[in-house]
Amino acid sequence: MTTLRRGSRGAEVKTLQRKLNLMADGIFGPLTEEAVKELQKAKGLTPDGVVGARTWAALGVAAGGRKVDEIILHCTATPEGEEFSNAQIKAAHLARGFSDIGYHFIIGLNGEVRRGRSVAIAGAHCKGHNTRSIGISYVGGCPPRTTPGWRDKSKDTRTPEQEAALVKLVKEQLKQYPGATVHGHNEFANKACPSFNVKTWLTKVGIKQ
Ligand SMILES: [Zn+2]
Repeated sequence: MTTLRRGSRGAEVKTLQRKLNLMADGIFGPLTEEAVKELQKAKGLTPDGVVGARTWAALGVAAGGRKVDEIILHCTATPEGEEFSNAQIKAAHLARGFSDIGYHFIIGLNGEVRRGRSVAIAGAHCKGHNTRSIGISYVGGCPPRTTPGWRDKSKDTRTPEQEAALVKLVKEQLKQYPGATVHGHNEFANKACPSFNVKTWLTKVGIKQ
């Protein structure tokens, strides 16, 4: 999606107008501008009437024109207590034939939120759901390396910092994509990932679905 403002015309303006429940004539005039400003105010954005990436996202349209309605949580399936850098994730994902890191966000052991691929681009993290979702992964998900067969075992290894960061990030994403639902990878694939029950966890931390 391109940046739209008063005077813009065309198909993207029509998309915008439909999203705002306006008559879709494809001409960005004063009424469209007013509706955009109202939306921006309601979403806590600067009410400048200009539709950039953040306003598109507030309408549920990511910058690439992607409609996001699912937020999917993962773990990196690495041993407890060991950091796993973006470079390491990228190397692992390239080895699996992906063009980049498959996730959009990664949460390090200390709760630092790292950006993966752009949210404007479909991820590579959950078969059948990539085009419509945001992929978030925390570092960990397996028992410590000293545990025999750790690779095949799952463990919720989230540090308190990671859990706090995950709550904050999920809430932010729900604001960006109103009406989106939050899931664990294990709801869509026969995998343990993210090594915890997302539905139970959402209730525990007070995120309503
Ligand atoms: Zn996963």
